[in-house]
This record gives sequence, structure tokens and C-alpha cells, in this order.
Amino acid sequence: MKKLSALAALCFLIPGLVSAAPPNIVIILADDLGYGDLGCYGHPTIRTPNLDRMAAEGMRFTDFYVAAEVCTPSRAALLTGRYPIRSGMAHNQFRVLRRESLGHLPDDEITIAALLKKQGYATGAVGKWHLGNWMNNPAGHPMKHGFDFYFGLPHSNDMNGVPGKPKGEDNSTDPDAKWWQPPLFEGQKLLEQPTDQTQLTRRYAEKSVQFIRSHKGGPFFLYFASTFPHTPLFASEKFRNKTPRGRYGDVVEELDWAVGQILDTLRSEGLDKNTFVFFTSDNGPWLIRGLAGGSAGLLRDGKGSTWEGGMREPGIAWWPGKIPAGKVCHEVATTMDLLPTIAKFAGTNAPKDRDLDGVDIAPLLTNAEGTVKREAFCYYRGTELFAARLGPWKAHFITQAAYGAPKPEPHDPPLLFNLEADPGESFDVSAEHPEVIAKIKAAVEKHQATVKPVKNQLIETVAAKK
Ligand code: MG
Repeated sequence: MKKLSALAALCFLIPGLVSAAPPNIVIILADDLGYGDLGCYGHPTIRTPNLDRMAAEGMRFTDFYVAAEVCTPSRAALLTGRYPIRSGMAHNQFRVLRRESLGHLPDDEITIAALLKKQGYATGAVGKWHLGNWMNNPAGHPMKHGFDFYFGLPHSNDMNGVPGKPKGEDNSTDPDAKWWQPPLFEGQKLLEQPTDQTQLTRRYAEKSVQFIRSHKGGPFFLYFASTFPHTPLFASEKFRNKTPRGRYGDVVEELDWAVGQILDTLRSEGLDKNTFVFFTSDNGPWLIRGLAGGSAGLLRDGKGSTWEGGMREPGIAWWPGKIPAGKVCHEVATTMDLLPTIAKFAGTNAPKDRDLDGVDIAPLLTNAEGTVKREAFCYYRGTELFAARLGPWKAHFITQAAYGAPKPEPHDPPLLFNLEADPGESFDVSAEHPEVIAKIKAAVEKHQATVKPVKNQLIETVAAKK
């Protein structure tokens, strides 16, 4: 039996001190899934019965955010509870770690996995990592950052393109697998390269289920970070060409099936009443991919931008018996809240020796009427603060097109939107509300006074081409 921390053991021994043993934790992270791509968020033709059921049995957030508009910094924030600018994982040149990058999540960052491992949890990561490519630098491996099991790809599935790959193949709704050669790892071991991407979601689901079953004595933490619907899009035979939304829909429906496999396993193993599951995506839809990219629904823009479509995501919380069923939460919540919330659930504290940006949202999750005290939410692009939200109001100090040849466009006064009245950010009301802008500026100054940007030398460094 795994060694439990003194506090967790005490909770077991004194009934009533807490309601149950430390819960198992599962975080499921999609890649580039848009706000509008699930049935329960209004997509008319993509069928997501498992996620819809998860929302019906749990809590669905309408205002859930990630802390960056692209993969690497967003994942760093989720796992550490901090804006990536604090960990040195926000960078400007490449925006995300490249395949050749030497940089990685710094060794002194405390991930959710590291925190829970200390509490006696078994910790497993399945899927895309993108916080360091250990093929260049072993210090980037997930097993150096709190996980004791790993199965997946070190980075995005488009990062091992074969020379000669036709332009536009990434945007294809029927890409040819021969143009990519992603490596698949189990632990430190390279299993195969190229791996068959059509089988990835199925294999991720199988590994996740295996991990749950082999640690059903608990407690365990599973971090399942799907490779998809990031492009290029691949689905297994069972899901290919099955949806009116085309390959993008096929891929999302297979991911929904994988979620169903995980939730069904928790139910059949009798773990559902003691497992907290959270589903979200790392950033908004990749709009430049055309039909191969997703949709942010009524939100403006997508991946790569600090408009809502880039950073507001589906967010679904599930813990039958603990989180009331069928609730919709309109409070702001973020991936950075997961670390302090999970720490609380696990009977421990979030790290106190560093600035954390997440807040404990257990009061929202376990009591539908609860609220939490929250400062402004800041929208960063790289190391620059572009926008901030305070209550329903969002001010854009800088805007910039997500891709292409974008130039930052400063705004003084900032653009101002009331996201409750205007979630699509269509009507700038800055002229009518100077007092709101003053409040947001004060909140931003307060936040920035706490930020000491970390220079992560390796982050912009790439290995010499072999
Ligand atoms: Mg992504």
C-alpha cells in the first residue's frame, strides 16, 4: 500500500474529520478544442454524449479560462497554478516549445503531480506533454516533474513533419499520415516512431483505463492530455467519416468516447463517488486551419489571441455526490485554480513559498451558491499583459492578430467590453465607463507589482539541427 501523508492518514482514522478518503483526481485536457465544439456548449452536429452526461451529472462553467492562448504556457499554468510569466514558461520568440527546444518546465516548479505524489498519490500522465522534449534534454520528461507513469508524445503531433510535406496538408480534413513521424513513449522508452496517429486516442483511453484499474485502491492522479483535436486530424476506423462536421467532428467524437471510457471505468470500479474529474482544453480553436480547426462559438477569434475565443474554454467538473448535478456556473474560474482546489481536496496545502494565481474553487464546486474572492484575471500573450477581466468587464490594452504577420496594436484608452452583455466583444464601451477602466488599471497594477518575470534561458534555445 502506498504511504500516505500524516494528514491524509489522520483523515482516514478520524471519521467525520473529512467525509471520505482523499479523492482520486482526473484532469482531461483537449488540445485546441473550441468553446463551441461540444454538444453541451451548443454545437449543432458534433455528438458528445459522454461529455454532455458529465455536464448533466456535474457542473458546467460558462466563464472558464486558460492562462495562455497557446499550448506550452497554458499547460505550465494548469500544472503549476501560476501565470507562465512567473515560471519562465511564457516566451515570445516561438510562443511554444519547438521540437528542437532545450527548454522545459523548471525543476523548482511544483506541479499538481508533485504535490499529490507527496501525499501518497500514484501519478500518471497520458498524452501530449509539450513542457520539454526529453529527446533533447532529459530534464523535460514528465517523470522529472512529479509523474511516476507516462505514455504519449513529447510535443504536438504536427512537429515531426517529413521534408516535402505538401503545403496545406496540416489543414486537410483527410491528411495523409505519411507526412508526420511523431515518437511515442512509455516512460523513458521510445515505443515507436512514427506512431500510427489514427490509433492514438484509442491507446490513450486504454492506458488511462489501465492506470485507473491498477491504482483503484487509490488515491491516484491521472492527467490525460489528448493529442487532438490539434491538427493534423486522425481518428480510428470506428470514428472516421461518421459525422456531418467532417474529420474535426470525428476526432472530437472519438475524444468524447475516450472520456466515456474513463468515466465508465470509474463507475464500474465503484470509484465515481470518490473521484474529482475536470475536463477542459488548453486553448481555443485553431482558426487558420479552416475546416480542420474548431469553433469558439459566439466568442471572438481563437487560438493565439487574447480575445475570448483564444482563452475561454469549455470547463466541466464531475464528482457525483459532492458536486451538485446539472449546475451551470457563471463565475470566472481558471485552470490555475485546479492546483489549490485539488490540494484542498487531497487534504494538503498549496505551496506557500511562491506566488500562486489560482484560487480554491471548492466553494463553487461543492456549493452551487458559493463564490470565491478573485482579483482581476489577466490575459497574457507571451510575457506581455494584453487584457484583464474584472467582474463582467474586460479591458484590452493591446490587441494583436493571432497568426500571419501580426503587429501589436496598443489601445489608450483600452477597449472595454461588458462580457455579460456582449460575450462576442463586438461593442467597445470605453467612452461610457472611464471609472471601470480606472478600476481595472488599478487591479492590473496590483497584479504586476507581484510579478518578477523569470528569465528561462533555455526557453528560446533550440538544439543544433542533426
Ligand atoms: Mg493547444
